[in-house]
Amino acid sequence: MSRAKQQLTVFRALGEADGPLSARELWSRLGGAGVGLATVYRALRRGVEDGTLESVELLGGGVRYEPKDREHHHHFLCSICNHAFDLFGCVEGLESLVPDGFQMTGHEVVLRGTCDECANAA
Ligand SMILES: [Zn+2]
Ligand SMILES: [Zn+2]
Repeated sequence: MSRAKQQLTVFRALGEADGPLSARELWSRLGGAGVGLATVYRALRRGVEDGTLESVELLGGGVRYEPKDREHHHHFLCSICNHAFDLFGCVEGLESLVPDGFQMTGHEVVLRGTCDECANAA
């Protein structure tokens, strides 16, 4: 598989995922696509460098990747399968938490819990 094709395969898989993926998660989802783990790491690094991918770190769960052009969203981290799911929409009223004199320039919201699959398996 050519380098450009590998890059595209990685980019597509992230685009179709229901949340940001770690290199290992992405690799296992590509299982059978003829892409090795080292290649996945390289493609992710290149994607971050060329600005098509963004690395995301959530509550110490390791680095995950998602397409950079994704609209404003947050994440739900399953404490059982450790998968992060995209949550679209936002929280109103965060500014009311900011102390007087502080200027908020951004925010991150991570919800933690159990995803539907893990809840059903329990
Ligand atoms: Zn889960
Ligand atoms: Zn938000």
